[in-house]
Amino acid sequence: MPALPTKLPNTGTTIFTVMSALATEHGAVNLGQGFPDFGADPALLQAVTDAMVAGHNQYPPMSGVPALRQVVAAKLNGLYGSAYDADLDITITAGGTQGIFTALQACVGAGDEVIILEPAYDSYDPAIRLAGARPVGVPMTPDYRIDWAAVRAAITPRTRAIVINTPHNPSGRVATHDDLLELQCLAEQHDLFVISDEVYGHMVFDDAPHESVARYPALRERSFLVNSFGKTLHVTGWKVGFVAAPPALSAAFRRLHQYTVFTVHTPTQHAIAAYLANPAPWQGLSNFYQAKRDAFRAALAATPLKLLPCEGTYFQTVDYSAVSDLPELEFAKWLTTEIGVAAIPLSVFYQQPQERRHVRFCFAKRNETLAEAASRLKDLAGRP
Ligand code: PMP
Repeated sequence: MPALPTKLPNTGTTIFTVMSALATEHGAVNLGQGFPDFGADPALLQAVTDAMVAGHNQYPPMSGVPALRQVVAAKLNGLYGSAYDADLDITITAGGTQGIFTALQACVGAGDEVIILEPAYDSYDPAIRLAGARPVGVPMTPDYRIDWAAVRAAITPRTRAIVINTPHNPSGRVATHDDLLELQCLAEQHDLFVISDEVYGHMVFDDAPHESVARYPALRERSFLVNSFGKTLHVTGWKVGFVAAPPALSAAFRRLHQYTVFTVHTPTQHAIAAYLANPAPWQGLSNFYQAKRDAFRAALAATPLKLLPCEGTYFQTVDYSAVSDLPELEFAKWLTTEIGVAAIPLSVFYQQPQERRHVRFCFAKRNETLAEAASRLKDLAGRP
């Protein structure tokens, strides 16, 4: 057999797979990987069956089912005052991951640098490398805000793009209006593309707005806005999302999309289009997760874990330095095997692992699951 070429020599198994396997093996409450442990709306599930029975089972157009693209464009334009065109600007993707991956392949290449803000979701780095470009990790501030001075300092003549993520996984922070203005200014000044990962855009708490790039005309013109129905509709396994970008960017995106994915599961697209005719599910999502956040934080208050701010997403980051001196990965494994609650160490979201004694819990779980996890975490109190 010939040698297998290794395009990602330093990439192992993603932490999410590792921690989920460990949680299953040890019967731990899995607050590691970010997925709900409750079902989706039965009406949405029924809509998929209805679409299949109605005969929507063949290839849809390459860019996605028109009804779904129309719903997406109307939703974005209504929420953010944009003017996305359903035919030219919206492409339905196999989840947010493919949207990010293909957007990066479309806009950067050999010799380019792409700025990512660390801690950064773990799919950005390999996607940038596979495009032939170099990921440049810029640390966020100690309280997980975007450090614009550090971003400016990292920009070189080779910088072609920046990836941002708000609400931010893993920290749970959200970008502000001023952040977006800074981003817009930098992107214009240095002629950068922006990949805006907004998969948690309907999970922003305490009445704060979601600062989408779609709100900022000069930013919108150079951005690939990525979203995922998996997060918004509690169906992470469906892997359906979209990318919104102006016509030239969407055309570049689709050139690659048509020969990699070509298109996405037809009946699911019809079902989501029909289901989204009612805005109530996504309009209520922030309140739904805010209630879970509040209950989970209240329960964790009885543990020695220090709660960091959570402004959006379904992740709560905690500081465990009152409990242990273990490095984050070892602590997360210990927590899973000994205490019975799986978490994700933040150290894995950096190119050069940082050790801050921070781990992330996912609270997209039934109230009973969260209560069970909190009661197990109370056992931390007496630990050395
Ligand atoms: N971006 C972020 C920040 C995420 O947390 C996730 C999912 N965990 C994705 C993108 C990928 O979304 P999808 O599952 O739709 O590919």
